[in-house]
Amino acid sequence: MRATAVLSVEVLKVAPMYTPFLMCGYAAALLLMLFGFRGIRRSTPDLHGSRQLSWFILCGLFGVLLIGLRPWTPALVSIVLANFLLFAGALCIYLAAADIFEADLHVFPWPGGTLIVALPLFVWFTYGNEQVLARLVIHAVVLGSIFITTAVFLFRRHGEPETRQPARACAWLLIFATFLQVAWCLFEFQLPPQQTNFVHPDLINVGFSYLSMVLGLAIVIGLLWLALTVHRLTLHRMAQTDSLTGLLNRRAFEEILRRELLRCDRNGTRLGIMLIDLDYFKQVNDSLGHFAGDDVLRRIGLVLRDGTRPSDVLARYGGEEFVVLLRNAGLDESLAAAERIRLLIAGLAGLPGRVTLTASIGVAVSELRETATEFLLRSDEAMYQSKREGRNQVTLYRELREKLELAAAAYIPGS
Ligand code: GH3
Ligand code: MG
Ligand code: MG
Repeated sequence: MRATAVLSVEVLKVAPMYTPFLMCGYAAALLLMLFGFRGIRRSTPDLHGSRQLSWFILCGLFGVLLIGLRPWTPALVSIVLANFLLFAGALCIYLAAADIFEADLHVFPWPGGTLIVALPLFVWFTYGNEQVLARLVIHAVVLGSIFITTAVFLFRRHGEPETRQPARACAWLLIFATFLQVAWCLFEFQLPPQQTNFVHPDLINVGFSYLSMVLGLAIVIGLLWLALTVHRLTLHRMAQTDSLTGLLNRRAFEEILRRELLRCDRNGTRLGIMLIDLDYFKQVNDSLGHFAGDDVLRRIGLVLRDGTRPSDVLARYGGEEFVVLLRNAGLDESLAAAERIRLLIAGLAGLPGRVTLTASIGVAVSELRETATEFLLRSDEAMYQSKREGRNQVTLYRELREKLELAAAAYIPGS
């Protein structure tokens, strides 16, 4: 204790710093970040969390400016209001994390509650019983509780593997910022009371405020990294998904199909595919309207989900055409799966206008070194054969080929 006190007295002599200078430097950094954020929000207005992070920067900016005005302004402004702006900034960090993951985080009772309890205590230790150390403890408790709550949320809600790294980095920064606040309090407790001077802080005080400023900026950058990662993944998902049914779209399906065919060539396994085209679907639209038609397409999407295995790949291939890729499926399995789907669609009850619907399905099984286009084309030909033969049926491409070969053999030129 004595050693620390002696050291601090020396440090105080060597480097008395004037708070306004320190705070001006931080305010300049925050101002630059604010301009940066304006640019980001203009170019990516739907970036989750960016609004809250801008608010964090604004709260920080005004907070440090008011602290910097301490020698010339009343304590209510430069102590109470300034610290509450910093607390509000911490709350914005919490809200930014929630917004990035589109989670419903409630400000009350925990982080908002600590703020409400802190307000009268802070006023008391400013006016009733002036105690700098008590204010420092309240500061650490409020920031710590908000930071730890946010860190726990980020550890739990990191979502997909790609977001794990930025979410964890932010969580660790928040934990580190909390430790820093606690360490700051502990250091200050070591000093004789008259030495705790925030207008002319010593090196230890300057060091702690400098570190917490840098950490504050690092947390903003970390959360921005997280927000951009989540945004990129959302765009990627949107580019792969059919918005009406929530199934994959054609592009994403073809990408997977190409990969799966290469894998089959390596492993010697086979893939089954079924192309499903709804029969006379135009009549549904013509009689009930496009919105009812959309409802029917959504229901078909659900039927496909219910009637297939989780390993199967489902997609809306075109308007009223769907495609299912069956992994590790031979002829019999693919045919049985297609027949099951056909029956499920034909038996679908409760459709708008009580329409009944059927589907024509073409089935094919992959061959060695076949391209995705060739494979799809064969299922398409089989599907058209189902149409030609009266609809509401399943055709296997191999049977179609055998029929075509028989017809070719029976054909006598000129007859
Ligand atoms: P077929 O038995 O020969 O397949 O007859 P069909 O009426 O199903 O086939 P056609 O190709 O003539 O019509 C397909 C219809 O699918 C036309 C179009 O209005 C409808 N359709 C395509 N996409 C959508 C969509 O997103 N929503 C709705 N409601 N209808 C769609
Ligand atoms: Mg069609
Ligand atoms: Mg059709």
